[in-house]
Amino acid sequence: MFALCSAPLAAAVAAGIATSGWSLRERLLLAAVAGLAVVAGLLLRRHRQTSQRVGAERRQLSIAVNNIPQGLILYDSSARVIICNQPYLDMFGLSPDVAKPGCTLHQLIAHRKETGSFDGDVDEFCETIIRNVSLGKGTRQLTEAPGGRAIEIINRPLNSGGWVATIEDITERTRADEKIAYLAHYDALTDLPNRVLFRARLQQALDAMRPGEQLAVHYIDIDEFKDINDALGHPVGDELLRGVAGRLRGCLKETDVAARLGGDEFAVIQTAIRNSSEATRLVEEIHFAIRHPFECLGHLITTDASIGIALAPGDGLDLDQLLRNADLALYGAKGDGRRTYRFFEAGMDERARARRGLELELRQAISEGGLEVYYQPVIAIEDGDIANGNVSCCEALLRWRHPERGIISPAEFIPVAEETGLINQLGQWVLATACAEAVNWPDHVRIAVNVSPVQFRSQTLALNVAAALASSGLPANRLELEVTEAVLIRDDEAALVVLHQLRELGVRIALDDFGTGYSSLSYLHRFPFDKIKIDRSFIRDLAGSAASSSIVQAVVSIAAASDMTTTAEGVETEQQRSLLQVLGCTEMQGYLFSPAVPSVEVRGLLRAHGGKAVSAA
Ligand code: C2E
Ligand code: CA
Ligand code: CA
Repeated sequence: MFALCSAPLAAAVAAGIATSGWSLRERLLLAAVAGLAVVAGLLLRRHRQTSQRVGAERRQLSIAVNNIPQGLILYDSSARVIICNQPYLDMFGLSPDVAKPGCTLHQLIAHRKETGSFDGDVDEFCETIIRNVSLGKGTRQLTEAPGGRAIEIINRPLNSGGWVATIEDITERTRADEKIAYLAHYDALTDLPNRVLFRARLQQALDAMRPGEQLAVHYIDIDEFKDINDALGHPVGDELLRGVAGRLRGCLKETDVAARLGGDEFAVIQTAIRNSSEATRLVEEIHFAIRHPFECLGHLITTDASIGIALAPGDGLDLDQLLRNADLALYGAKGDGRRTYRFFEAGMDERARARRGLELELRQAISEGGLEVYYQPVIAIEDGDIANGNVSCCEALLRWRHPERGIISPAEFIPVAEETGLINQLGQWVLATACAEAVNWPDHVRIAVNVSPVQFRSQTLALNVAAALASSGLPANRLELEVTEAVLIRDDEAALVVLHQLRELGVRIALDDFGTGYSSLSYLHRFPFDKIKIDRSFIRDLAGSAASSSIVQAVVSIAAASDMTTTAEGVETEQQRSLLQVLGCTEMQGYLFSPAVPSVEVRGLLRAHGGKAVSAA
């Protein structure tokens, strides 16, 4: 209003000043009023501009405040709301009619209580904030909003009195933090605790051990997992590991912990046991669970595990010492042929070192030609009498001539070669050497070569066999491959495929060491073997044990019915020879006829006897 009249007023005043007849005093006064009017007009214009600017700034501020993701409330020194943004209202589903400027903290929280987004004590809550703010202290609270969302409220006092509260929905952030913490402590494939958490849990368990109580650490390694992984692919391997993890969990009581330490290595902490037989019982349960076939992406896989056990306090109360001892026990179990368990024993350390030494020396022997193949004749019965028999076959047996230790038995170094994968290289070399040797023998004498289950599962076995035959020129029907049941135990289907590939090459297949291991007669129905080799242990007991002779008898009958040959291994005495002959065994092999001998000797022997039976001692 004033603004509207000030300009004409000033004009009128100016006109009046110009009008003569006014006294000087009157003119001066008028000039002063006119000046005031101009100043007032200027001031008013500025005021109008300022309030326009303030309005714009306030709108901008409002846009900004309502567009931050956090809830924000500005309180004055009497705990009344100055600004409350939309995200805050949305977060707790509040009415803008209540939560508006001028409303008190108490009214706001009471409204939240009424609408169900606050379930604490309103008075106490407000008093705490106001007290802290008045002391210049900030506060941080975590609360839960509807829908189980996690909310963080931070109150920061302001120098001007009052405070600003930021309210943040930290659900996603918390989830991300939890996920990171989870990934740092759990194995993503199996959801089992990883090595880090395993160590922490073991330390806790050791600390919580009560007098008279023991604790067992089991290290579990899946036997020949690498081969399954290589042969059937990583997705199948992963599925198997998940399956093993599930079965392990199923074996444990609530306070025990199963963990995956990496690769195919698992571990279990068995708490609160009284003696080692409780650990043995758990191991047996674990073995039982793991030995049951796994269905992995269409493959039926039978697997097994080596387990090493260390007990606290007996084998150590220190975490690292206990783990080292469990590891040594596992190494011991692997060294004893796997598929078994071992408790830690003093001296294992020494043996483990010796084994590692052996591995190094074996690598050296392979590269420097320290290995040799010997040949042991196998005699076939003719006209019902072995005396008329021929050498029908010779078995290739590896020999390692160690510079200091002399000849080392393959029984000692083959397991090391299998464990390290060296067996593939070694096996291929034996195959090539033996085929090249056998071409020099009479046509009816076959060569038998042992094939390790490890080699058997490499997908190139059939190809390697074909290559050895091609480069030596040996007809396929003169090569016999000796495989053990272990080949069939793992993945029946994959193993059978390779067996059939070999058969298609025209190679003969013998089932070695029959009667040891799982000795299931069902293996005989799965594949039409050409030959069964009855293990030495039965032959040894033949004279003294009725059970042994009836087993031999049964095997001979089954074999005869399916056109298979039976070879008795380890025939050392005349008595064994005649008993075996009565039982109808068709081939024999053993020291009674000849031990394994170097190639020069076997050639001489075959020549001297014209392929006829090597005379018994
Ligand atoms: P195997 O296949 O059962 O071989 C027969 C073993 O019995 C040989 O031991 C042989 O020397 C021994 N033997 C033969 N006749 C008699 C006897 O009358 N009495 C006694 N007590 N023993 C007899 P060796 O040569 O020490 O071989 C041990 C094992 O090492 C073999 O058992 C076989 O499983 C493995 N092996 C040997 N050479 C190779 C190879 O080239 N490749 C693979 N994968 N394994 C091999
Ligand atoms: Ca053999
Ligand atoms: Ca054998």
